[in-house]
Amino acid sequence: MSSRGSGGLELWSVSATPPQPGCRAMFLAETRTPREERLLKDLFKQAARVADVVCLSQGVISCYAVRTDGDTALLQMIESVLKTQFPFCIIERNLNEVTLKLVESLCADTKGEMAALQPCGVCGARDPFSTVVLAECQDGPLELDYCARCAEHHSDVDAEQFAASLIQADRRGYVVVGRPTDAQARPQRLLAAVGT
Ligand SMILES: [Zn+2]
Repeated sequence: MSSRGSGGLELWSVSATPPQPGCRAMFLAETRTPREERLLKDLFKQAARVADVVCLSQGVISCYAVRTDGDTALLQMIESVLKTQFPFCIIERNLNEVTLKLVESLCADTKGEMAALQPCGVCGARDPFSTVVLAECQDGPLELDYCARCAEHHSDVDAEQFAASLIQADRRGYVVVGRPTDAQARPQRLLAAVGT
């Protein structure tokens, strides 16, 4: 199992897929009955067949983030269902840290819990559709999250350089180094043996 990074580590190999352009939106609705909660769940289960869906909270305040490959028809359809079926709903096409803070505060007010999202390693913003850089370090595999804005900012470089470029901008101080070979590791072990 991979772990989330805490910083200051040497990374041996890094890789990530540059973000694809698409449409994103956040949908929030107050559900007053189990029936309404089920209706909302089913709606986003259907949506997940053709788009990326992340559930941000469930309960009195149910919230979902949706990303399509550029098709806005699905987002419009969800918006229309929410507006006609739920007395209180919020639809936000601009999915950012301010939107997430609003969800968090509504969840707290209704004793609900918001899904934990990892902060971007560059700017600290959370993003339900973060770009994940897969890295390897001494302790094993590592996943590092970057928000869409920062990933976009670094995506004009060569695809192979994309992950390294993000790591370089990461505030937690990761360094990409060559993977240590057995030949490099051996003299250290010998020295340790001599020392004891
Ligand atoms: Zn960022």
